[in-house]
Amino acid sequence: MMTLPTLPYAFEALEPHIDSQTMQIHHGKHHNAYVTNGNKALEGHPFASLSPVEIIKRLAELPDDKRGPVRNNVGGHVNHSMFWELMAPAGKGGGGVPTGTLADAITKAFGSFDAFKEKFAAAGTGRFGSGWAWLCVMPDKSLAICSTPNQDNPLMGKAIAGCDGTPILGLDVWEHAYYLKYQNRRPDYMAAWWNVVNWNKAAENFAKA
Ligand code: MN
Repeated sequence: MMTLPTLPYAFEALEPHIDSQTMQIHHGKHHNAYVTNGNKALEGHPFASLSPVEIIKRLAELPDDKRGPVRNNVGGHVNHSMFWELMAPAGKGGGGVPTGTLADAITKAFGSFDAFKEKFAAAGTGRFGSGWAWLCVMPDKSLAICSTPNQDNPLMGKAIAGCDGTPILGLDVWEHAYYLKYQNRRPDYMAAWWNVVNWNKAAENFAKA
């Protein structure tokens, strides 16, 4: 049984970069619907007792009629649960630059932090329609950027999500994540998002991956 996690900050805490109303609707309506519909899809199935991450890694084992709803809704729950934790109020845990081994790995993979940001932004703006941009740790411990459609997650595997690896940073580029404040200007939302990225959390994800 999945439950909606509490946000680790107030709805207005990410202002002005992400507005309070967007956060309320995004968390209370969109994420909540993924939780409700994911639980409904798994009702009576043994997968209901697994962790959400375990479930999305094993989508291929589900019967055809369950795979689609579980992919979308448990995927949505995993993605958003991760996303909230990867943000913090600007200047109070959010923004700045990565440090330590994560900073070193980013420089090694992309040449510089700025070059990384440019490539990550390109993954987000290049996603047609709805989806996510990801920074992933690959099996050889190197870093890679990719994008997935809808609520797919690299943990679902390349055959399903189109890319793989263990995500340590993810950005929601669905219109519901930015439309109220930024309307059609996805690049502006993505540029503002760097001000609220919680690099300590990303480093923690990197250490665990
Ligand atoms: Mn979303």
